[in-house]
Amino acid sequence: MAISFSLAGKTALVTGANTGIGQAIAVALADAGADVALAGRSEPAETLALIEKAGRRAVNIAADLSSTEPVARVVEEAVAALGRIDILVNNAGIIRRDDLLQFSEADWDAVIDTNLKTLFFLSQAAARGMVAQGGGKIINIASLLTFQGGIRVPSYAAAKSGVGGVTKAMANELAPHGVQVNAIAPGYIATNNTAALQADETRNRQILERIPAGRWGDPSDIAGAAVFLASPASNYVTGHVLAVDGGWLAR
Ligand code: NAP
Repeated sequence: MAISFSLAGKTALVTGANTGIGQAIAVALADAGADVALAGRSEPAETLALIEKAGRRAVNIAADLSSTEPVARVVEEAVAALGRIDILVNNAGIIRRDDLLQFSEADWDAVIDTNLKTLFFLSQAAARGMVAQGGGKIINIASLLTFQGGIRVPSYAAAKSGVGGVTKAMANELAPHGVQVNAIAPGYIATNNTAALQADETRNRQILERIPAGRWGDPSDIAGAAVFLASPASNYVTGHVLAVDGGWLAR
């Protein structure tokens, strides 16, 4: 049987796709054949244009995902615009850095709410449709901090470790319905999320010295894994967290 990485005829919903990893994934899904809805709080003009340039339909759904308030509406608008959701990519995320001994409750709640709580309830809302239609793909953006503790980012480590857990929990219950749930754990990728680390000469050097590939990742480095996990080629892959990290975790 031919192995297919094509997303022709599929529809995708990607969160936080105005920039960075989310933008690279949204455009790659379109390049592979999918129509794409983008959900986020900033205008994703560049991403919409790139998807249309790839010859696919692009839809913008304005939503602040720091709470679950817009979740039902986001799914409704995506289905109204594209007919159904075959692929959900939970990419939107934030990070807050501070020393452990003074880390605030506000920085704890903000990161857990956006990176973990909304991810779960948006997945739940999209999965209801996927179960009804007999299949789908959910791809969560995890982190190296799904496996490690990190430095000065305790709420991020907790949220991303939680993403690994709910990825497996959702995979177990949705597998009988033809829905695969996986996560991608990006390594150190040059985006807004890591701007502070890139600007810190010492941390930048320490990070580069530890990456076997010897360079920061580019958002486009994540795109191939996302297309694989969105495509029929991964139909027997579920509950997996795929590191795309230039070898960091192997070190
Ligand atoms: P980024 O450039 O900061 O992108 C984050 C995206 O999430 C942006 O589109 C952002 O929108 C959106 N977002 C944040 N809070 C939101 C909210 N309340 N409502 C709607 N959208 C919101 O960083 P990135 O590196 O591409 O991050 C994408 C994902 O990869 C995140 O989950 C991050 O944790 C994860 N990740 C990144 C790295 C890395 O090294 N860069 C490594 C591991 C995991 P705005 O532009 O409006 O803020």
